[in-house]
Formats: sequence, C-alpha cells, structure tokens
Amino acid sequence: MSDSPILLTPGPLTTSARVRQAMLCDWGSRDPAFIELSAGVMDRLTRIAGGDGRHVCVPLQGSGTFAIEAMLATLVPRGARVLLLVNGAYGRRMADICRRIARDCEIYEVGETETHDPAEVTRRLEADSRLAFAAMVHCETTSGLLNPLAEIAAAVRAAGRHLLVDSMSGFGALPIDMAAHDLAAVAASSNKCLQGVPGLSFVVCRRDLLEAGRENAGSVVLDLAAQAQGLEADGQWRFTPPTHVVAALAAALDELDEEGGPPARLARYGENCRRLTRGMADLGFSTALDPGVQAPVIVSFVEPEARWFDFQTFYDALRARGFAIYAGKMRALGTFRIGVIGAIDPPVIEAFLEAADGVVTEMKQKLIR
Ligand SMILES: *Cc1c(COP(=O)(O)O)cnc(C)c1O
Repeated sequence: MSDSPILLTPGPLTTSARVRQAMLCDWGSRDPAFIELSAGVMDRLTRIAGGDGRHVCVPLQGSGTFAIEAMLATLVPRGARVLLLVNGAYGRRMADICRRIARDCEIYEVGETETHDPAEVTRRLEADSRLAFAAMVHCETTSGLLNPLAEIAAAVRAAGRHLLVDSMSGFGALPIDMAAHDLAAVAASSNKCLQGVPGLSFVVCRRDLLEAGRENAGSVVLDLAAQAQGLEADGQWRFTPPTHVVAALAAALDELDEEGGPPARLARYGENCRRLTRGMADLGFSTALDPGVQAPVIVSFVEPEARWFDFQTFYDALRARGFAIYAGKMRALGTFRIGVIGAIDPPVIEAFLEAADGVVTEMKQKLIR
C-alpha cells in the first residue's frame, strides 16, 4: 500500500479505501446475493444516465472499449451508416471499430482543440438518408475537451436519427440525460468518474433498439442484446462476471450518492481543475485547450520547448514523490496530461503542485537528468 501512488490519470484512478475494501469478499456469480447486487448497480447506472423505463443498462466484462465495440456492433445494423464525430483518438477508435466490424461510416473530423458544428451535423444527416446513426465522444480524453452533447443531440434528434455516446471519461460527473436528449445509447466504464476499479463496462440503451439489434452482433461475447436477454431471464451474466469489481462499484455508487451525486462530484473536479491549471501556470505550463472547452476531467499541458524539460525525467521525479501523471496523446502538439478525477480533492492537488514545483526547480538546475 505504501508504494501506491496518487494516480492523476483518466483511470484506473485513485479509489477510496472503502471501494477497495468492498472487494474483500467472495461472491458466487449465481448466488441470489450477487444477482441482487448486480441488478441494483445496473438500475442505479440507468438513473445516473437519465434513463427511465424505456432504457436498460447492459454490463459487459472488460474495459471501456469492449462496451463501445458492443454498442456499435449490436445497435447498428449491417447496411446502416454511422456519422462519426471525430476530434481525437477515441473518435478515431470508433472509426477503427466500424471498419473491423464492417459497419459503414462517414467521418466528420475537426481539429483536436475544436468542436463540431451542429449545423454541419444537420447538413450531413440530411444529405444521406442511410446515416441512421451518429456517434460522438462526450469528453475527448485525448485532449480533455468537452464536446457539446446537448447541441449535437438536438441536431441528431431533429434529423430523426439515433445518437450513440461514448461518455467513458465523463459518466458520473458530467451532466447527461438520455430521456431529455433522446439518446439511443451511452457507454461508460467502472473506473473513471464513477471511481470504481477497472474490469466492467456498460451501455445504457433504449430497450426497443436493443430488441431490434438481436441479430446484429457478429461476436458472441460483444453482443449486448444476448447479454441483456440472459440478465432479464434469470439475472445472471452469460459468462463469469467480475464479481469483486461489481461489489466495488456498488460501494463507489454509495459514495457518489453521499457526495451529492454527479453535480457535487463535478464541482469537486472543477475545483481540482482550477487549482491545477492555476498552479501549473505559476510554474510556467500552459494548457493546450481554450478554457471554454476544457472538461474538468483531464488537462493537457503543452510540453515546454525549453532545454531543461524532458517528459520522462519529469514523470520519474514526480513518481518518486508519489504522483503518477499521464503521457500526452494529441497529434499536432507535444503535450502531457494530468487527471483531476478520482478520490482526490484540492489538498491533493496542492500537494502535487508543491512536488511539481520542486521537480521543476531541480530540472532547471539540472540536478536531475
Ligand atoms: C477510457 C476511454 C475509453 C475506453 O478505454 P479502455 O482503455 O478500453 O477502458 C473510451 N473512450 C474514452 C473517451 C475514454 O476516455
């Protein structure tokens, strides 16, 4: 435990002792206690998504990408096209998935520091009646950018098409309302803003679309409709569930409730983010994004061109002081990332900034290289 660093990453991230303690128990996957635990978690996730009786949460064993692939494979029929809104690596990953599962897509790509124009979404949907679906990333973790979900959802709804949302790095903190925005599906995972441990992903989706998607998936394990059918029949997952991960997520959802729900969590992350960007600016680091599009999830900082700076040295020195940061992922700009989500509060950010101050001073004096 003593060596476990503070994870300033987009997940897996720093969890509470209570969440980790929830895993100190063995659950039988077919035991009524586990079936009840699992069903309770899915109901709570549906409510966090703003779903109602028309929606269902289908869990999957695996990381977040498993849910993204299952969502596209199950809900998009062969022959239909998807309008993919891309402004980072996670949007591009959906394009890769579509190619591999043979779903036709049209890519609407903008720069990694920009957002999509809802009017252009409307224009493209109206120009091609085969575009039955659109798909977008809520918070593009590549940069930390918040895409305008409400505006895009309004455009897709007005065009009478279905919107699929990758809300992996925002779910549990960023506002999302499936019913109000008429979303077809939202995919997320246990180990980001929900502050659980990794191993479970899920898709909250419209029951009617799931029903219509029964024959779509070309994979046995990544078939959301079959997983939902199994769960509805006897409450059991089709294949071995990550029991400890589900138990940890139940504890994490209790903590989310006690904190005051997603709005209170977003406020804490917002304060973490403000302190971090202010403190890093004092150390001479600028952000890659305009503050107007920055989500309080993960911040991309521009790598200084100065000769004293080297990311690996910076990383190692911070890691030696107990903090793990994250490499950058933007295409056009050298960046590194620092996450503000997880069981961390402003005093942790202050402690990090003090460590970073010491590291920068040492690097400039070339005491470490
Ligand atoms: C984390 C993340 C994913 C899923 O990544 P995994 O490594 O498969 O968990 C997908 N989309 C976004 C936007 C993410 O931040």
